[in-house]
Amino acid sequence: MRKLTGRELAAAIKTQTTAEVDAGPQPRLAVVVATDDEASLWYVRSIAKAAAGVGIAADLVDLGPGARAEQVRETLARLSSDTGVHGVMLQTPLPAGLSAQKLAAAIDPRKDVDGANPLSLGRLAAGLPAFVPATAAAVMALLDHYGVELAGRRAVVVGRSTVVGKPLAHLLLDRHATVTVSHSRTRDLAAVTSAAEVLVVAAGRAGLIGAGHVAPGAVVIDVGTNPTGDGGLAGDVDFDAVAGVAGALTPVPGGVGPVTTALLLRHTARAANLP
Ligand code: NAP
Repeated sequence: MRKLTGRELAAAIKTQTTAEVDAGPQPRLAVVVATDDEASLWYVRSIAKAAAGVGIAADLVDLGPGARAEQVRETLARLSSDTGVHGVMLQTPLPAGLSAQKLAAAIDPRKDVDGANPLSLGRLAAGLPAFVPATAAAVMALLDHYGVELAGRRAVVVGRSTVVGKPLAHLLLDRHATVTVSHSRTRDLAAVTSAAEVLVVAAGRAGLIGAGHVAPGAVVIDVGTNPTGDGGLAGDVDFDAVAGVAGALTPVPGGVGPVTTALLLRHTARAANLP
């Protein structure tokens, strides 16, 4: 079994991004947060730290867990019209009752570095240039980095969220894979996932995918990041069990995650250089 780690690829993307940043004006990323969820705040702080590492300025705009929809929308619109800000991102979770999909429409698509504006997903679906959600882009970057053939192969995506599952389905389809999307209402998940030559799991359920869900030799990409009781992270795939069946498998942590952050920074550098 080949372990598909993301750290080397992430480092290479960051090196290229540093060179792009050095050659132009300093990019600035604004991350809007409206939560006190510790895991989410940790992630946002890690983005800011990684941004500093490649020469990108990152501002955390913390509206607090009591933020109202109008406040979030106005903040996103203000940052979108600020010529000193090149990338705008809305971190989830949001306060109860607020819809990330609706609010992200206030992000200028040219600054939508995490592909959250519904226009970005629509353009992706239509095969037009757009910023792709960094996580979905990271899965594709990992598959390419390890030379995984996609054309004509059976790909199964577990999860249909707007940020991961749906954009991934489009990206895999664009690469001529035969794509099946499964979700919580899928009957006999194991039968569906066992047909995959390339299986991408983004369900947010620790250990959902075991040895019985995977075809011998399949390439398995685990997007899941589930907090464990001891402060660590677990994937959606039972790594030890699936390692005995799969041909290749990403670890959690150290797989998709580092590549996601690196691509978010690349997108921000590209947004700063848009004509
Ligand atoms: P989400 O919005 O909660 O969506 C989860 C999807 O999984 C839904 O479509 C849901 O189906 C499906 N699902 C849930 N339980 C299932 C089950 N038992 N069987 C089959 N499908 C099931 O989550 P998300 O934002 O897409 O994130 C998914 C995971 O990726 C989470 O662990 C998240 O933390 C992680 N993530 C990682 C990165 C990274 O960089 N590594 C970035 C973003 C997210 P329904 O639609 O039917 O409810």
